[in-house]
Amino acid sequence: MTNLEFRHTEAARLSPEEREALLVDPGFGNHFTDHMVSIVWTKDQGWHDAEVIPYGPIPMDPASSVLHYGQEIFEGLKAYRRPDGSIVTFRPEANAQRLNDSARRLALPEIPEELFVRAIHELVSIDADWVPTREDQSLYLRPFMIADESFLGVRSAERARFLVIASPAGPYFSGGVKPVSIWLSQDLARAGHGGTGAAKCGGNYAASLLPQQEAAENGCQQVLFTDTQTEDTIDELGGMNLFLVRTDGTLITPALNGNILSGITRRSLIELAKDRGLRVEERAVTVSEWREGVADGTISEAFACGTAAVITPIGSLKSSDFTIDFGDAAPGELTMSLREELTGIQFGLREDTHGWLDVI
Ligand code: PMP
Repeated sequence: MTNLEFRHTEAARLSPEEREALLVDPGFGNHFTDHMVSIVWTKDQGWHDAEVIPYGPIPMDPASSVLHYGQEIFEGLKAYRRPDGSIVTFRPEANAQRLNDSARRLALPEIPEELFVRAIHELVSIDADWVPTREDQSLYLRPFMIADESFLGVRSAERARFLVIASPAGPYFSGGVKPVSIWLSQDLARAGHGGTGAAKCGGNYAASLLPQQEAAENGCQQVLFTDTQTEDTIDELGGMNLFLVRTDGTLITPALNGNILSGITRRSLIELAKDRGLRVEERAVTVSEWREGVADGTISEAFACGTAAVITPIGSLKSSDFTIDFGDAAPGELTMSLREELTGIQFGLREDTHGWLDVI
């Protein structure tokens, strides 16, 4: 166990009335809780100065390396309120491991897994009143790490900071669980071979924003990226992994090829599907296969998955050349039953047979 004592500042920013007003309809990513965690790393001292402090701006030197070379990584997970009032998070150690995978790729320091999990506990405990009690709401947690050495030379920074902030969250896509439309990005990529596609770093998201704008202009809620070399092989969406469902119940999802994020929702759904005796294929999947499968009736559902959006049915895939449409406005049956099972575990309505929940 890392010997790091957290210093606490208890004072809340908002009154209980102000907080309750925000919790009626928080949307996604709009509001922030009373506190945040901050831990400093230096090359000489390692991790130190762990604090739980009031949420607010952080002092930053204009020469801070993150502002110039984008040395930044982050995570996303949620805290859920169970019917008995207790609070849990879902597989936080998996987020810690993934943050450290990202840290290695971005030449940032790794953080001990138990320190990451403790930081989550500290923040969720002090801001427990912010964990929503309403259906379909949760507290979204955003751990992140920035390089904050004041130095303009291009090399990995010798000073970094790990922070955790939290934001009460309703559904990611407004309008409830309705099939979304996906835009196929044909010219713009978010990742390439040997790049940072498998890391959760800010730069990947910066690269996805222009294609995401293009998606919105074409009436789509998310963008689908394919392999930059084959152009037909599916990678993932801007912020979610993708699954296709065959009529025989087989699930197909792109393999972790180094270009895509290893989603914790993806991993969990693969396990849940296998528990049901379903076949899961992790392999190269192409847009052509999707198109032909829908045309000949062998592919019946598609869905996107991730912490923020949970499982969201995909109604159509559009590009400037073609549209693949399931032709039915109703969400797929397997999509919805997997969604129900996963959210049931997360919100404490079903038994957690895998030991995925971490009680705060
Ligand atoms: N791919 C990308 C690019 C993402 O940003 C996310 C969200 N973290 C995911 C996939 C899904 O990952 P997870 O299930 O761990 O949220």
